[in-house]
Amino acid sequence: MTPQPMTTRPTTDRSQRTIIDLSHPLSAATQAFPGDPPVAITIFDSTSTASTAGERHLNCSHLAMSLHCGTHMDAPFHFFGDGLTIDRVLLEHTMGPTVHLRLPWTTDGLTIEPRHLAAYESQLRSARRVVLNTAWHHRWGADNYFTEHPLITGAAGQLLVDWGVVLVGVDTPSVDRPPFEAHLALLGNGVLIVENLTNLDAIPGDLFELIATPLKIAGRDGSPVRALAIV
Ligand SMILES: [Zn+2]
Repeated sequence: MTPQPMTTRPTTDRSQRTIIDLSHPLSAATQAFPGDPPVAITIFDSTSTASTAGERHLNCSHLAMSLHCGTHMDAPFHFFGDGLTIDRVLLEHTMGPTVHLRLPWTTDGLTIEPRHLAAYESQLRSARRVVLNTAWHHRWGADNYFTEHPLITGAAGQLLVDWGVVLVGVDTPSVDRPPFEAHLALLGNGVLIVENLTNLDAIPGDLFELIATPLKIAGRDGSPVRALAIV
């Protein structure tokens, strides 16, 4: 019997949920962080090679990449040798209610400070997860994507920690640049970071269910995630 081609799964189901994909595709064309090795996908077997009675050829690929390429999660171990590794992060922190905060960047740049967050304190304390939509994801592929992106200050990062936030997602390649004050405040307090989110404008409201669960890579610093908004 000839196998039927896989159909694309619908994005809605009987419970009227809509699943919005917040992830960039991963391919050899995916931009890596400057200095990181590029994504390499090597095809080591293919159904385009004729199968014989004794040997069936399958589509099999080998993936090599930085764990910080594309849409991914940083574990505390990324910055702290004694920090939690990606296989040990609390799964309940990687999914759940999430505030969608729209803070669009301007040509003057954008540095997210405590004053940008103040009005959302109660929502952030309640949801404990936040995705910052700076609209920088529209710059994906641009020359300055990795160099001029919006930043979170250390003080803003610390405020999120103080409010009990457990996950911070951004549509930029990093929450900050050296000296990494936001990374240090967040990861230093066990807050997970998701970077390179995209498609955030498809989220209709200010609150959604996020799923951004990492691979169980033993003892390491991060992982690609398939980030989803359930609305
Ligand atoms: Zn990272």
